[in-house]
Amino acid sequence: MFGLGAKVNPAVCGRCRLVASDLLCDAFGQQKGPLKMAEKLALVGIGKIARDQHIPSIADTPALVLAATASRNPAATVDGVPAYPSLAALLEAAPEITAVSLATPPQARFADAALALAAGKHVMLEKPPGATLSEVHALEGLAAKAGVTLFATWHSREAAAVDAAREWLSDKCLISFHISWKEDVRHWHPGQDWIWEAGGLGVFDPGINALSVMTAILPAPVHLVSADLHFPANRDTPVSARLRFGGPAEVTAEFDWLEKGPPAWNIDIETREGKARLSQGGARFAPEGGEETAGANTEYRRLYTQFAKLIEEGASEVDLAPLRHVADAFMLGRRVQTDPFEW
Ligand code: NAP
Repeated sequence: MFGLGAKVNPAVCGRCRLVASDLLCDAFGQQKGPLKMAEKLALVGIGKIARDQHIPSIADTPALVLAATASRNPAATVDGVPAYPSLAALLEAAPEITAVSLATPPQARFADAALALAAGKHVMLEKPPGATLSEVHALEGLAAKAGVTLFATWHSREAAAVDAAREWLSDKCLISFHISWKEDVRHWHPGQDWIWEAGGLGVFDPGINALSVMTAILPAPVHLVSADLHFPANRDTPVSARLRFGGPAEVTAEFDWLEKGPPAWNIDIETREGKARLSQGGARFAPEGGEETAGANTEYRRLYTQFAKLIEEGASEVDLAPLRHVADAFMLGRRVQTDPFEW
């Protein structure tokens, strides 16, 4: 679809003087278009991940143009892009918007997603796609009814070495698979109180990234059989957790938000044919005695390219497996009270 030739930035091509989002040029400046008009995208929730990843990644996606933003905070704006205090106000003032990307916390996701789908807009959801499984099923129904795209993203699945890990594992006999996902919450989520409120997932906010990778690379599905969840005495979500999954292999996970120093986002895999480690959150894969795969972080660029492709194809992509495992952990987990948590 938009894969022809080199990407043209800034917005006007220096050689053919046409708007980059409406056409592509090949490396010699020859026009290959005009192609389809770019989708006019609205981004909701101009917070940490919107600034770190969404805004630069949208700018790098020729099939999309950032045409409006919504955030409750009047100072949370993007230069040159019309800003609104809510999605409702945005949709009213800017009916030309065709797609909406939600980068708010999960507790605020459903109302905006339902509003956008009812207005006939394509919708992309940050992870986790909702605060509950049922609300995401409801969104799937709304998207199907409106005939628009719903894309529930899992950014960690787009890390540079995840595909290599999946391929390596695909013909092996698994013995054990251990996830160790540990980071310092004070460093990675400074002052974000929503993560400690019900629906905010606590340590499962990063942990679900590991589960999204696990469910993408294990050759067969697994199900949770036990969990220990450690809740600070003054908080509604866990600060650490241990999970055990059932099946022919030993599949376990350890999540901890009180890790000091650099984060550990690793998966250690043992098979009858050999061992391997997926590390750096999926950016590096090293099979023992084999060739290493590693690469730069292009996770959100890949997500936005996939969103544009789904819109083009009239398809949706909603895989709830990672959220299902988290829901199972909250259902089956043994609650252990720990020291109060203060920032
Ligand atoms: P954040 O900065 O705390 O919040 C994002 C924005 O959402 C805020 O700027 C805020 O904007 C809005 N918001 C916050 N609470 C809200 C509420 N109750 N109702 C409506 N809007 C609310 O969070 P974040 O770190 O960007 O995370 C947002 C989502 O991205 C989460 O689902 C998270 O799991 C995911 N994510 C985060 C990271 C990361 O490194 N932080 C990485 C990948 C994915 P206004 O106050 O201006 O409305």
